Amino acid sequence: MNQNGDFVDDTLLTTILPGVQVGPNHRLGEIDQGRAGPTIVLSGGMHGNEPAGVRAIQRILATLRGDNAPVAGRLLGLAGNVGALRLGVRYTDRDLNRSWDLASVTQLRATHGHTAEDVEQLELLHAFDDAVAHARGPIVHLDLHSMSADGVPFIVVCDHPQSIQLARDLCLPGIAGLEKAIPATTIEYFTTLGHIALAVEGGQHEAESTVDTLESVAWLLLASLGAIAWTTVPDLQERRDRLRARGLDVPAVKVTYRHGIAPEDHFRMKPGYRNLQPVHAGEVLAEDDRGPVRAPADGWILLPLYQAVGNDGFFIGSAATA
Ligand SMILES: [Zn+2]
Repeated sequence: MNQNGDFVDDTLLTTILPGVQVGPNHRLGEIDQGRAGPTIVLSGGMHGNEPAGVRAIQRILATLRGDNAPVAGRLLGLAGNVGALRLGVRYTDRDLNRSWDLASVTQLRATHGHTAEDVEQLELLHAFDDAVAHARGPIVHLDLHSMSADGVPFIVVCDHPQSIQLARDLCLPGIAGLEKAIPATTIEYFTTLGHIALAVEGGQHEAESTVDTLESVAWLLLASLGAIAWTTVPDLQERRDRLRARGLDVPAVKVTYRHGIAPEDHFRMKPGYRNLQPVHAGEVLAEDDRGPVRAPADGWILLPLYQAVGNDGFFIGSAATA
């Protein structure tokens, strides 16, 4: 790949979505003009039924290349679960975003694993290792996701003070504690290594607005970190206005409860819940084979499950106190 992120050898490319190709180690593209600055790793499609993040990254790389804009540091765009993206499924053998704790990573590096997602994770680890090895400044990872339910998009922040600081620039509600309620995601991996990590849930999987939300958040992150000038962000004010409108007036929220599920529960979310909708203690949110599933406390519901695959039924958050 040359410094503009164009692939030099077309034979190494694989088509994962209409009009989207990846190179070796899941690379969607890369921009490195040799300037000092942060290493920013954007990843999308860590869940294969969430192509919006891949599309958002592709748009940013294309715009920066087209404008020939100065970029400080290194911007690396990665596709997550390439095999699952091609099939349009969340994963093939296991959830790719649940085994990034250091123990699992160390074991995988030693054994090379055997499942489809073991291969995907090893390839991503090569890409992450390369990003870390060649960093000339701070390393920041943003993982782009989408949701089965409609509702308010949000930023997942980690414990790192700079992560919370950065989230304030991204014009969406910041959610703390989700990285502990859903352990061993890529957020855990990067923060364990001492880097800054954020994730964004951009909206419903198929909605066109989800691509726009994810793209806007990533643009704001690039500018906030000084990788690009604020004037480089296309339609900056309109993007901020759209993000604030989609974020409604939901405050910063801390996750206080996870409702984990197993296939034998036959968990069924009640229809109509939207992400970050307010709920009240005792409210029946879902049914399973044991009967009604109620909200344990007042708060906001997060990630209500409206797809067949997954082991998180929903989360409840309460207003985060500063
Ligand atoms: Zn996801």
